[in-house]
Amino acid sequence: MKKVELLIPAGDFEKLKYAFAFGADAVYAGIPLFSLRTREIGFTSANISKAIEYTHKLGKKIYLVMNIYAHNIKVKPFLNELEKIVKMKPDGIIMVDPGLINIALKKFPNLVIHLSTQANTTNWTSVKFWRDLGIKRIILTRELSLKEITEIHKQVPDIELEAFVHGSICIAYSGRCLISNYLNHRDANQGTCTNSCRWEYKLGYDKSSLLKVENQQKPYSMENYISPPDGFYVKEQKRVNDKFPILEDEYGTYLMNSKDLCSIELIPDLIKAGVMSLKIEGRTKSVYYAAMVSRAYRKAIDNYYNNKKFDPENLKDLMALSSRTYTTGFYTRNPRQYGENFEDGYSASETHKVVGIIRNYNSKNGLAEVEIKNRININDKLEIITPNKKELIKVKEIVNKKDISVKAAHGGAENVFITLENDPGKFAFLRSKIEN
Ligand code: SF4
Repeated sequence: MKKVELLIPAGDFEKLKYAFAFGADAVYAGIPLFSLRTREIGFTSANISKAIEYTHKLGKKIYLVMNIYAHNIKVKPFLNELEKIVKMKPDGIIMVDPGLINIALKKFPNLVIHLSTQANTTNWTSVKFWRDLGIKRIILTRELSLKEITEIHKQVPDIELEAFVHGSICIAYSGRCLISNYLNHRDANQGTCTNSCRWEYKLGYDKSSLLKVENQQKPYSMENYISPPDGFYVKEQKRVNDKFPILEDEYGTYLMNSKDLCSIELIPDLIKAGVMSLKIEGRTKSVYYAAMVSRAYRKAIDNYYNNKKFDPENLKDLMALSSRTYTTGFYTRNPRQYGENFEDGYSASETHKVVGIIRNYNSKNGLAEVEIKNRININDKLEIITPNKKELIKVKEIVNKKDISVKAAHGGAENVFITLENDPGKFAFLRSKIEN
């Protein structure tokens, strides 16, 4: 049986290496000018070939993202860039623009193109259309249910289906959003989204406009929209039982802030529905994130193929990452207001934070070199987490680069050394529990 692919975001070379070490089968990386993450500057067309070489030496796969909707001015540069990229032999190119796809396939008939989720492919007739054009894989839109995916696979079994299982979600259909462009002149479809949907919107009114609304006839009267003292909510006239709460704290309100997707428990269902690649979102997230999501999903996928039950530890490890709290998205139901986080707009973890990356271990003196991400102190109880192990340790000694013992080390400062009894291996993190 061909195993489902675990596909991890690689925002730069380091993230790529950690993703593979922690269990990814494949990664995707962007060409900044032409992918939807222009903030992600880890790769350029100049250094991407090294990443491709590294990946292929491991026997794994790398897909390159060039999924902008190009304006006229970008057509020529895009095609020039594509020509260079094709020569580097990535395992696939993620594209969306129909015109560019058409030209690319005429120029390079054997090119493996994956259709970006930006194309919002929501039904089997569209899948058929893209397959007939020469697309090899469809990255399904996040707004589909398991039932719909099953139907698509039944109708068009001879095309690869990829589905997002984890990460941030747009409040709009992926790519069909102008909020950032409107508010900040930064276009999400050109790779410069400012996440405006998650900004802190103030709930306010000026008295005159309120009175004007109050004086109107129903259905516009304010009592239909605001219900003190329970707090504010929006109610639509024909859906009297549906209340969409609006909470406000001292910073504002979060009307459009989607929770993050987490479908780790649905892996068996997605595989049975015909999905052959499980994709994680987050090219701009940290190397720790890339490693931890790879680790958790790798273990969950392997458990499935080894006929083992779902291990809640893997979900706990995802809970330990910063998130906007989790939802399973549209796979089993329409999440409606339960898919939104009205309470705050930032990502946070309730349980753990990363404090360092172990860069080296000297077995002669038992000192591990640590890149500090968050403060560590002597006597802190920390956890070492590697692709296959977790181990609790106590920080007995911290030595700085001048060989002087110090009581604490701060995030962003020079690397320090801590004593460890055993070599944790090449890829290891230190994290601490957040005490509530
Ligand atoms: S503003 Fe929000 S919904 Fe719109 S594209 Fe950006 S992340 Fe997505």
